[in-house]
Amino acid sequence: MKIASVIVDVPAMQTDRPFDYKIPEKWSGLIVPGMRVIVPFGPRKVQGFILELKDHSEHKRLKSIEELTDLTPSLTPELLELGNWLTEKTLCFKVSAFQAMLPSAMKAKYDKVIKLGAAAEIKDLPEDLQKAFSEKGQLDWKEADQHGFFKQVQKALEKGHLETVYQVAQKGRQKQARYLTGNLTESELLLAIEEMPQKAEKQKAVLECFLPDGKQLLTQQEIKQLTGCSDAVIRTLVKKDMLKETFKEVYRDPYAGRDFIKTEALELTAEQAEAISPVLKTIEENRHEVFLLYGITGSGKTEIYLQSIEEVLKKGKEAIVLVPEISLTPQMVNRFKGRFGSLVAVLHSGLSIGEKYDEWRKIQRKEVKLVVGARSAVFAPFENLGMIIIDEEHESSYKQEENPRYHARDAAIHRAEKHHCPVILGSATPALESFARAQKGVYTLLELKERVNKRALPAVELVDMREELRSGNRSMFSESLFSKLKDRLEKGHQTVLFLNKRGYSSFVMCRDCGYVIGCPHCDISLTYHRKGQQMKCHYCGYEEFAPATCPECSSKHIRFFGTGTQRVEEELTSVLPEARVIRMDVDTTSRKGAHERLLSSFGKGEADILLGTQMIAKGLDFPNVTLVGVLAADTMLHLPDFRAAEKTFQLLTQVSGRAGRHELSGEVVIQTYTPGHYSIEKTKQHDYLEFYDTEMAARKLHSYPPFYYLAVINVSHPEIAKTVSVTEKIVQYLKGTVESGTIILGPVSSPIPRINNRYRYQCMIKYKREKNLPETLKQILERFQQEMQQEDLLISIDMNPQNMM
Ligand code: ADP
Ligand code: ZN
Ligand code: ZN
Repeated sequence: MKIASVIVDVPAMQTDRPFDYKIPEKWSGLIVPGMRVIVPFGPRKVQGFILELKDHSEHKRLKSIEELTDLTPSLTPELLELGNWLTEKTLCFKVSAFQAMLPSAMKAKYDKVIKLGAAAEIKDLPEDLQKAFSEKGQLDWKEADQHGFFKQVQKALEKGHLETVYQVAQKGRQKQARYLTGNLTESELLLAIEEMPQKAEKQKAVLECFLPDGKQLLTQQEIKQLTGCSDAVIRTLVKKDMLKETFKEVYRDPYAGRDFIKTEALELTAEQAEAISPVLKTIEENRHEVFLLYGITGSGKTEIYLQSIEEVLKKGKEAIVLVPEISLTPQMVNRFKGRFGSLVAVLHSGLSIGEKYDEWRKIQRKEVKLVVGARSAVFAPFENLGMIIIDEEHESSYKQEENPRYHARDAAIHRAEKHHCPVILGSATPALESFARAQKGVYTLLELKERVNKRALPAVELVDMREELRSGNRSMFSESLFSKLKDRLEKGHQTVLFLNKRGYSSFVMCRDCGYVIGCPHCDISLTYHRKGQQMKCHYCGYEEFAPATCPECSSKHIRFFGTGTQRVEEELTSVLPEARVIRMDVDTTSRKGAHERLLSSFGKGEADILLGTQMIAKGLDFPNVTLVGVLAADTMLHLPDFRAAEKTFQLLTQVSGRAGRHELSGEVVIQTYTPGHYSIEKTKQHDYLEFYDTEMAARKLHSYPPFYYLAVINVSHPEIAKTVSVTEKIVQYLKGTVESGTIILGPVSSPIPRINNRYRYQCMIKYKREKNLPETLKQILERFQQEMQQEDLLISIDMNPQNMM
């Protein structure tokens, strides 16, 4: 076929369709859909994705493809289809959807070279290539093309004899490990060891590592670990020609060098066995089905995931496990690596660009069978998928808040349908949408009602902080929490203290006139950071120093309100000076690896209290934790978000689940100013089902999901009049086109009415059936396209929004 239709990387309305290009003769037969190419586009050259090949085009005078970026397709046919589907569902540009599926090393313009595959030797290559490789050890991409090597390279790539590697600048550069091997014969080695002078003990120890025959390849790191020697010792032996250095490329495996204790499948409890059985059946029958695994914290959901995956792998298929970014802790990863070892790839945002690309390549080359990762791991390029699992399926981080605004749950279900395989959605507090679907029979409900070994859920005490204040306690710790903290200290047990940061800003206010210091560019107060006495806007990044006097009335009584983790830590040290505290928040965990280091230190018992924000709410499992304290439960209850109660309940349940997971039983103290609110009250009884019923009634009353679907149109512009008038026009247009029964709300100003000097308005659509809505919304975007390009107008559409701010 001579013509390729290409989606070009020019994200705009007019260019969001395939363009035809001629395939140059020299590449005929090389190109398949899913590969990336460089094509001329107007005066520029841009990257594009090949969508399909064809013999004829209705256009005349086609331009030719300029360069080939791939010789193996970056996107499988299934992922191309998924991209088209995402485009329709989220109203994004096709090229944005395709790019979202690839690691960022492949998005930018990085140089690319062809290297020998990990397990290959030069003699495996065809003759022409052998010559090129024995000279330089690698082949430049452009050179390969110029010499007409592409066809041979493509074949070698397929066989794994060659691989393409991105030269990601600095951080992601290919990592070379220094390897050492003996440079002596066996008898020379033995002799050298014997003749080593007494004081050269370390050198001797190093040489002994290479016994018996001196031929092993050990990394410098390994030798140092084995012998405790310094780099200098190794250098000396190299100088003496007793050891030889070589460099070998290694994957940038962030988990390398760690021991994973191999685990075996546990014998399932009766409840677990009952829950897993329908899942195993779908695996057996290659059938698609969506399961909602509703199981309380500690009920053994992960064991069900592990054993289901085992079945999938036995069938020669692959699996994806999605975990919220925040709970992708080493503990979590270990559970999968412990069972499946090197068959596991891990994808999360803590990895460098290069590390992510390495993990992705392992998937693409079928070197791994299982990927554990955050949201975007749902796009793992497996071709023989046997299962997708979404742990903590209610987490809002599964929704991407920028284009393409997809929800990983939807993408997972779509992929699983195509692969005829099951999906497991797991949670102790399922999203209302999911539980409602399970009740309607759209999903199959699986329940785990008891903790493994029947351990009781922790007793929860609600403390009314208004009462505390009335009885004269001005501290941030209630009487009850304080005495329990002391008790745990005495017993040598550990405590987790949770401070909900969301919706709780530490703002600066004048006690005399009530003036609050806000961002000059956004309608939001500045957040106070004790470090450096700075105040910062969390939306636009604006910073200034905290003033000593009120800018409004010059009073000196200006101070910050709200409780940051630092404040709590200070108060803890003053009331419980003997307690050892580990604080985990954005400040203490910004450095790479800090998160893990702090947790492992707590796990080793090096502190009595772990104090932190959202990042400690999930996944932690420490046997010695018998008390969980929540300092302010209601901080996000009053956010302008119809999911506020649901999020509060979910979070409190999660946090409570951290206590008493093992032999020692646990207690939870929740401090609140609204103890009567059902989202807090139901936490006390651990009653998801009752919470669900109450919350469903509220949703029904106010016509929110799951009773209605939601779409929000956001309009922003530097001038308020323009912002309002555009939103008004959209509302009018919608009212004239939607079906009866659909509710159009707006124009109203957004919960944050101005960010970065742009005014923000919105229109909300609540609908049950609107077949043409995507089409209608597209028309709206088209209608305002010119103003968006020329007048700084922004219109964004969020189908099924998760974040209402
Ligand atoms: P969940 O994910 O539902 O919160 P976990 O999977 O973390 O629960 O299980 C809680 C604990 O119970 C873990 O320590 C796990 O190893 C253990 N566990 C799970 N299933 C079994 C079983 N069948 N037998 C013994 N221990 C189990
Ligand atoms: Zn003042
Ligand atoms: Zn700002």
